[in-house]
Amino acid sequence: MTSQTNRTQLQKDDCQYVWHPFTQMQEWERHAPLIIRRGKGSYVYDMEGNAYLDATASIWVNVHGHRHPRIDQAIRYQLTQVAHTTLLGVSNPPAIQLAKALIQLAPKGLRKVFYSDNGSTAVEVAAKMAIQYWKQCPAPQPRKTRFIHLGLAYHGDTVGGMSLSGVELFRRPFSSLLFPSHGIEPPYCYRCALRLRFPECDLACLAPLEKLLQAKHREIAGLILEPMVQAVAGIIPSPPGYLKRVRDLCTRYNVLFIADEVATGFGRTGRMFACEHEDISPDIMAIAKGLTGGYLPLAATLTTTAIYEAFLGEVHEEKTFFHGHSYAGNPLGCAAALANLTIFKTERTLTKLQKRIPQFRTFLKSLADDPWVGDIRQCGYMVGIELVQDKNQKNPFPASDRIGQKIAMTARTLGLLIRPIGTIMILMPPLSATMKELNQMVAILKLSISVVRASHESSSK
Ligand SMILES: *Cc1c(COP(=O)(O)O)cnc(C)c1O
Repeated sequence: MTSQTNRTQLQKDDCQYVWHPFTQMQEWERHAPLIIRRGKGSYVYDMEGNAYLDATASIWVNVHGHRHPRIDQAIRYQLTQVAHTTLLGVSNPPAIQLAKALIQLAPKGLRKVFYSDNGSTAVEVAAKMAIQYWKQCPAPQPRKTRFIHLGLAYHGDTVGGMSLSGVELFRRPFSSLLFPSHGIEPPYCYRCALRLRFPECDLACLAPLEKLLQAKHREIAGLILEPMVQAVAGIIPSPPGYLKRVRDLCTRYNVLFIADEVATGFGRTGRMFACEHEDISPDIMAIAKGLTGGYLPLAATLTTTAIYEAFLGEVHEEKTFFHGHSYAGNPLGCAAALANLTIFKTERTLTKLQKRIPQFRTFLKSLADDPWVGDIRQCGYMVGIELVQDKNQKNPFPASDRIGQKIAMTARTLGLLIRPIGTIMILMPPLSATMKELNQMVAILKLSISVVRASHESSSK
């Protein structure tokens, strides 16, 4: 078979058999799907060998580039030992070594690692841990069963994850399944609900949170948030000081602070974990996406000794944490994750980022004079570019215009993979992306926006 007939057959079979996540399949079936056969560094290649810069980092998971020799090697070595054994009743070397390595890196106070397979389950575990903790802690408070989350947050698509998320579009069909949670107004400085400006606002947006905690803290088990950046919401950074103030409020009102570092962890924001930016420690921390460097599904929920110890007792006391997945602590995934962490050291990834992040920022500035670019938001290697019809009015494009999608499709023809969230263009390059590659990503995006604008303007005349 030539690669073209091979490609055509695969495209046909994809449309016939595969149901893609978060995808309107009717629209999907109208276009021949792009099939990625291989990847290397910041690039992925389709069936014919055409190269695309991967500005999605394979949906935010890739860290050191595709096919990094050290991670490839670690997985190959682990395959000579065993691919999978369970953590129920037995243990395995990579799972042990990784737990130790994670605790050494994690914000202080986090002492125990509970494994699962993806970000949603890591959050689910965090929620269940918090609830059970309050029933079993030294001064039990069984009424503490509710959570607080930010109104635009995304914490996963399992029932617990959805219940704690604020993206209405994803929740609506399932409202009958969801448990109630307090959604609070998120900090979104570009569209501040209070119409204030930082720093003069003095974080006035936190007043309702304090009020809520004052009134309800006896029934609140925990507060969950994505530290520093609400990612799926459209890369919305919280203003400086916000994270620390929320942490302090949780401490003051005896509410567990749960950090969802699924998107922000593993160097994404320029620090190993985003909590480090404001020097805070959560009581529970969920990690996933970048944990294996983007190789294998693995996640973990980290917590403190105090929480862990509340689960200790004789078996008949029924304090056990009854939760666990078949592939928890999978040795291949843990081996990949260990190699991922090693590369941070051997390649001095975080040190290099400190120089690259401001350079990336200067590339992004070239987008500022585009008439559609309303806001450029960057936290490390997380970038959201919010497009608007008019910069002064900040009015968004109607969803039916499919502007973000059109720009992404144009970018694809120019060799860039980008996945927008509505009309917010997202750049999530691997941390290994070179200056040249970052520059190229921004240049292709800039061109794609202007191409789509030209055709939009000519069609609306
Ligand atoms: C992606 C994401 C999740 C869900 O992770 P999955 O691995 O997709 O289940 C949870 N929280 C945040 C902040 C995320 O970005």
